[in-house]
Amino acid sequence: MSISLDTTVSSLMTNRRRVGALKSLGVLTVLDAITYYPFRVTDPVPMLPLRSISVGSAAAFAGVVRELRVRPLAARRGYRLEALIDDTEFALEHSARPSSANLVFFSYKKHYVDWLSSRLAQGSRLVVQGESSFFNDRLQFTHPETLVIGKDVASQEEGLARVSRPRPVYHANSRISSEHIHESIVMMLQALAGSGEAETASSSPVPGASASGEEERADVSRVSANDLSRAIPDIVPEDIRVSNGAMHRAEAIVAMHEPADTKEFAHAITSLRYEEAFISQTALLRSREGVRATPGYPCPVDETHRLPADFIASLPFDLTGGQRDVVDAIQEDMAKPYPMQRLLQGEVGSGKTVVCVAAMLQAVDAGNQAVLVAPTQVLAEQHYQTISEMVRKLSAAKSAESGDEAKHDIPVVLLTGGMRLAQRRKVLALAASGEPCMVIATHAAFSTTFQAPNLALVVIDEQHRFGVEQREALRRKNEVAPHLLIMTATPIPRTAALTWFGDLDISELRELPGGRKPIRTIVVQEADGGTMSRMFIHIRQRVDAGERAYIVCPRIDESSDAEEDPEGGNLMSPDESEEGSAVLPLHSVEEIERRLQALPQLEGIRIATLSGRDDDETKQRVMHDFATGESPVLVATTVIEVGVDVPQASCIVVFDADRFGLSQLHQLRGRVGRGGTRSWAFFISRAEADSIAAQRLAIIEHSSDGTEIAQADLELRGAGDVLGDAQSGGRSSLKLLRVVKDADVVVHAREQASELLSKDPELSGETVLAGAVLDFIRGNESFLATT
Ligand code: ADP
Ligand code: MG
Repeated sequence: MSISLDTTVSSLMTNRRRVGALKSLGVLTVLDAITYYPFRVTDPVPMLPLRSISVGSAAAFAGVVRELRVRPLAARRGYRLEALIDDTEFALEHSARPSSANLVFFSYKKHYVDWLSSRLAQGSRLVVQGESSFFNDRLQFTHPETLVIGKDVASQEEGLARVSRPRPVYHANSRISSEHIHESIVMMLQALAGSGEAETASSSPVPGASASGEEERADVSRVSANDLSRAIPDIVPEDIRVSNGAMHRAEAIVAMHEPADTKEFAHAITSLRYEEAFISQTALLRSREGVRATPGYPCPVDETHRLPADFIASLPFDLTGGQRDVVDAIQEDMAKPYPMQRLLQGEVGSGKTVVCVAAMLQAVDAGNQAVLVAPTQVLAEQHYQTISEMVRKLSAAKSAESGDEAKHDIPVVLLTGGMRLAQRRKVLALAASGEPCMVIATHAAFSTTFQAPNLALVVIDEQHRFGVEQREALRRKNEVAPHLLIMTATPIPRTAALTWFGDLDISELRELPGGRKPIRTIVVQEADGGTMSRMFIHIRQRVDAGERAYIVCPRIDESSDAEEDPEGGNLMSPDESEEGSAVLPLHSVEEIERRLQALPQLEGIRIATLSGRDDDETKQRVMHDFATGESPVLVATTVIEVGVDVPQASCIVVFDADRFGLSQLHQLRGRVGRGGTRSWAFFISRAEADSIAAQRLAIIEHSSDGTEIAQADLELRGAGDVLGDAQSGGRSSLKLLRVVKDADVVVHAREQASELLSKDPELSGETVLAGAVLDFIRGNESFLATT
């Protein structure tokens, strides 16, 4: 059978349990296996004469078998094999006195025992590596790794070098150990290289036997990178690779799994990191070019198309300089015959909504449709209210001007998954009619029932996780592609933006409109009763002054897990955070509401609750009562994280703040102070002083710069947690590239990719690279498919 990177693991291995275990790691094909990289390598095992080995530590030595005994096990089926070995010669080389040790093996399988017996026959010269124990007055090695000199290796030196080399360590789970992962990968590399029997390493495990050492080891001979280079062709063009001093892909992959030393392992990582950067940048630059060749909806802005300008004039405030610039850029983009692809990054409260409404009106003015997609129901409703109000005022102004009412009516409709069927049908029908309209939606807009034949603009709000594959899918879904505007308040460091949004034009809104005052941020130790009490007195005073307060908790009730925040999984799991807070259960909405109801400081104040579990009607009512001041204190989960805009809200309290990501806390903090009032954020923590969690909170306590906070967050937690799996590369790509630390790599790769594309825009001379680019883009389209 010929084996390629696409060959499935299950067709190579007879051991079903092993196949299932690998599957649980996401390893289904040979490619998955060989790119399942170790996260570190062990230190080299020291070579020591037996006398110098301390019990319990790993060591390598050489010796001769003096006696071999095989005994059936008394209590259960199976055999015990014991080889007495002495290290006379080896000890003398190390100027030590000779000694002896027992090598012990257990097995149910007669054929395995026979095989071992022939290897460890009396007089065999061995190199041994393993962890020592002490038993029957003697040093003992249970299931050690053994190499027979003159058979497995030519010399003692070669054997010792082999067994003492650093070993890769993999992320394992309860179903499979790091050693077995390693063994499986090496087996597949050997199969790929055309050497080694694919089946040898997968003899079925013996029930009840100890997990390791039972199976024959696959890594007897090192896989040759040369043999592999046909099966694992290079992706980065050779001249570029060589100019960077990088390894061939095959060589790098072998060095990841079978490093000769730590230096080689590091070189392999650098090489593969560059490869990831190069593929992703080539893909993004190609995608960017692809956009220009796609027909879009030109939406002109001129004397007869004045709707956006009229809208801006109808606002009760002037745009900030930043808003003005972004509006201009968008107007220019949308007038072009190919689709806009723009990312708008703007601090919480920087006024992104009016910018996107102007863009939506530009689409409508040209006789087309526009949709705004919000990440949550609450946010969609909130947008619907503000935007329909803005548009109503605009229509009224225009009607007053012209004295004719109906003509200026611009339909603004809401579309969510939870809507009543009849209402939804009406909205879907309006969209399907192709009539100009503005649709405010949740992800319901991505379901196939939503058809808008004249959709000229898609705005994605607060969704930095709208990845390149989703953007491509959206573009390919329509014959004429809509303009795309992605808005996010999660500041993304420049190189991270290049890595994930390298196909987009990026605008930023840095200033906050209307002279907003900075939010006073105070970290409060939960155990500090005095401060906690003063905080509630403060909240009482603010509420009495007509303001509102949010109280945020990570869980809904005592029995629930941390509530999935709208963007998924930003909460740290207890094993990531340290001592103290990890063991204490997280606070819940239900529990905190109960406690607040009993607080004398809040007596007589109506307290409402809100969580992702509430139905839409409840959510709407609760937000309405909060906005009007009917119930001025709202205990909620992170459903309020993004975009919710109640100008009178001046205080936010976050319980278990030490367990949230910094960018998320920054987002939450942005919920207050939106009405120009003074405002406060209280981050309640149970983290030990000096812990990393406490250090993280100190950063946000002293900084209101979103970019700085995001940078610190990325450094302290890693990109996957902060930006989500889709953005950190999904399943297949960007496994090694670190967006903050590898900034230089990304920039360099972008330059080299751009140079290559200028010479060969279709990558016709680089078929392997072209395939990798396609894989990168197609990595994960599930976001659009599952809604
Ligand atoms: P975000 O960027 O977080 O989405 P919003 O668009 O919700 O921010 O705007 C926050 C608040 O600022 C809203 O109440 C909005 O009406 C107001 N706003 C927006 N632009 C201006 C401006 N130029 N001057 C004054 N207030 C503004
Ligand atoms: Mg917003």
